[in-house]
Amino acid sequence: MNKNNSDNAQTESRAIREIRISPVVPTESVLVATARGMRPKKKEERIERDTRKHVDTCPFCRGNEHMTPPALMTIPDEKNWQIRIVENLFAILGDDEKRPNLVMGLQQTIDGYGRHEVIIDHSEHGIAVFEMQPEHFAKMFNAYRYRLFDLYQADERIRYVLVFKNFGPAAGASIPHTHSQLIAMPVIPENVHSEIHHSQAYYEKHHQCIFCGLIDEALTFEATIYDRDSGEVRRKVDIGQYIIERTEHFIAIKPFASRYEWEVHIFPLKHQADFIECSNELLDDFAGLLQRTMKRLDTVLEGVQYNYFMHTLPHGDAYKNNQNSYHWHLEITPRTSIPTGFELGSGLFVNTISPEEAAQQLRDVKF
Ligand SMILES: [Zn+2]
Ligand SMILES: [Zn+2]
Ligand SMILES: [Zn+2]
Repeated sequence: MNKNNSDNAQTESRAIREIRISPVVPTESVLVATARGMRPKKKEERIERDTRKHVDTCPFCRGNEHMTPPALMTIPDEKNWQIRIVENLFAILGDDEKRPNLVMGLQQTIDGYGRHEVIIDHSEHGIAVFEMQPEHFAKMFNAYRYRLFDLYQADERIRYVLVFKNFGPAAGASIPHTHSQLIAMPVIPENVHSEIHHSQAYYEKHHQCIFCGLIDEALTFEATIYDRDSGEVRRKVDIGQYIIERTEHFIAIKPFASRYEWEVHIFPLKHQADFIECSNELLDDFAGLLQRTMKRLDTVLEGVQYNYFMHTLPHGDAYKNNQNSYHWHLEITPRTSIPTGFELGSGLFVNTISPEEAAQQLRDVKF
């Protein structure tokens, strides 16, 4: 067999068609189908990013503060703010009306009690997160932390506070000025509940946090075999190829089974259940890693539209026992295609690029 033939054979054998089960939440699975021509999905249109520094009509731009509700928090102060937190004018959940919970036969409702806040991430309209000063980006996460703490303290009816960011129309961002949001809600969201439940079950069986286990696995199997004589790389071991970058305190991983093709998760290396307990030193390190990850995604996808959201242990006595089994993390879900009827109907999301290949491309980005 000549070299070309063997290359072809290799490419063919590398085409993957398999269903992968999420190790953390086994009811979540993904279909990885990388064979050429396997393109069942409509690609999301690329958009030109709005890079303007200031827009006169934008309610989030400096000078237009009167267009938003009064600030709940400003950093460093109201006059020279760099980060500004306000209540959402169009709140999904609010605390203005208090209605009793209703049960109508099988249909139940829980009062839409909660808080919905907008974090205006930067005074500059069109700045991307990876273009911000690292110190600024760390301050943004510090602001999230303060709001989480305050909201949990303020009202015991609040069961969970979800912090998230939508960037780009495909990710549901309605205002182009860079911002993130926070929704304090009266229920534990299903996604968080599933992770807590399954990680607790794993802990009871193995006496280990499953997230720590995944990190260990990724780190342990990261190996390169060198030629003893020449010192050249002979082979890279194929397990543990999911690491995108590791810093002193954090790791960015492309999950082995994730719903979105370019999805990346960031975990603290040392076990920690609650994001609020993350120290300033750790936050600086985290912010740097997240910025580089966003830069990698933006480079590989030539402009990334995405959501990110934080999963952390809910407060309250009911979760005291999950301190050792749950591990906070940030999930980044780039939007590169529109889910189809197959995906919505089956719950099986299709990846046409393998997680291994995606991780490789993201790792290879040069700064
Ligand atoms: Zn603006
Ligand atoms: Zn852990
Ligand atoms: Zn999660």
